[in-house]
Amino acid sequence: MSESGTPLPRDASTAQVHAAALDAVDAGHDDAIDLLERLVAIPSVGGSIAEVEIQHVLADVLHGDGFDIDLWRIDLDELVADPDFPGMEVERTQAYGLVATLPGHAPDLGRSLLVDGHTDVVPPGHHAAWTSDPFTLRRTERDGRELLIGRGVCDMKAGLVASIAAARALRALGVRLAGDLTIAPVVGEEDGGLGTFALLRRGVTADACVVPEPTDLDVIPANGGALTFRLRVPGRAIHASRRTEGVSAIEKFTYLNAALHRFEAERNADVDPLLRRWPLAYPLSIGTVHAGDWASTVPDLLVAEDDSASPCTRHRRRLERRSRTASPARAPTTTSCVTTPCRCNGGATSSHRDARTTSPSSTRCSTPTARPRRAPASRRSTARPTAATCACWRRT
Ligand SMILES: [Zn+2]
Repeated sequence: MSESGTPLPRDASTAQVHAAALDAVDAGHDDAIDLLERLVAIPSVGGSIAEVEIQHVLADVLHGDGFDIDLWRIDLDELVADPDFPGMEVERTQAYGLVATLPGHAPDLGRSLLVDGHTDVVPPGHHAAWTSDPFTLRRTERDGRELLIGRGVCDMKAGLVASIAAARALRALGVRLAGDLTIAPVVGEEDGGLGTFALLRRGVTADACVVPEPTDLDVIPANGGALTFRLRVPGRAIHASRRTEGVSAIEKFTYLNAALHRFEAERNADVDPLLRRWPLAYPLSIGTVHAGDWASTVPDLLVAEDDSASPCTRHRRRLERRSRTASPARAPTTTSCVTTPCRCNGGATSSHRDARTTSPSSTRCSTPTARPRRAPASRRSTARPTAATCACWRRT
């Protein structure tokens, strides 16, 4: 609010508006820190019950700030079965979506803005490595600047709180936006992006979307999405002394890994202009490999997992068109596996959609090609999605 706490006069100049806005943001500083402290105290690690709790807490907070609230239990079964489900890497029995909207007074004239911020955090690791309790906000100072320490402060509860503080400042100033302002705290972002995916399936759209991830205040208009998949490479076990009569899953995987590298190069040969700032826009990286259960036995199974950046929707469609017209030699048979999110359900091997192979030259996977269902007409908007409203973005 302005220093006097009064709304701006109707004939305020732009300079007055700017000054009053900055004053209002400063005036809301302590409340913002209090809210951040409250959110950090909720250990909303992905898949935990606290991940559910924080959504309810924020629903109450945003309701108190005058937002219209849509809080719903996400139908995980339906979401996981969706052909475009981005994946999930932790066990999760429930999840909640939350959309808080300040309705604009002239939505046909004004443009709408969506702020999407995740409330889940990654585990804190060894507590001994922390200088204080990771779930208690610690305020300190470094080089004359305020420093806030705690699990999830940077990534990205502070960003979410900043957006709420901005909305509060507008409200304090009596600013009535023409278009809708929506804040959507989402869950499951650190392990695939199911929260934002659920948001899209709910039919939530906007003219523009801001994701207040920590970027050191750099504006990043687009980035690759995160896709996960699991490869299961079968072999045939036999004692190592007769290895030529068996089939090593490890040796087969070396062919697949080389093919994945070729596919990575192919995907990065023609990068969306918005992503050319990165040395490798769409990295493809196998993160874990597990094979064999006995040193002197030819391994009959290898399981490899990947968490890759994928092209944004419009670029992916271009790649898919190219892939359809490419010769087999240029389009590795693993292509469809790589672009397919796994349907993992809590990390159980059996629930992943596997890319099964019988030999290095016959890699196949059961990639569904159905397009995503459209949202009900009542929830659809005619607004065109922007690059920032891709289904998912690179995780940080
Ligand atoms: Zn993040």
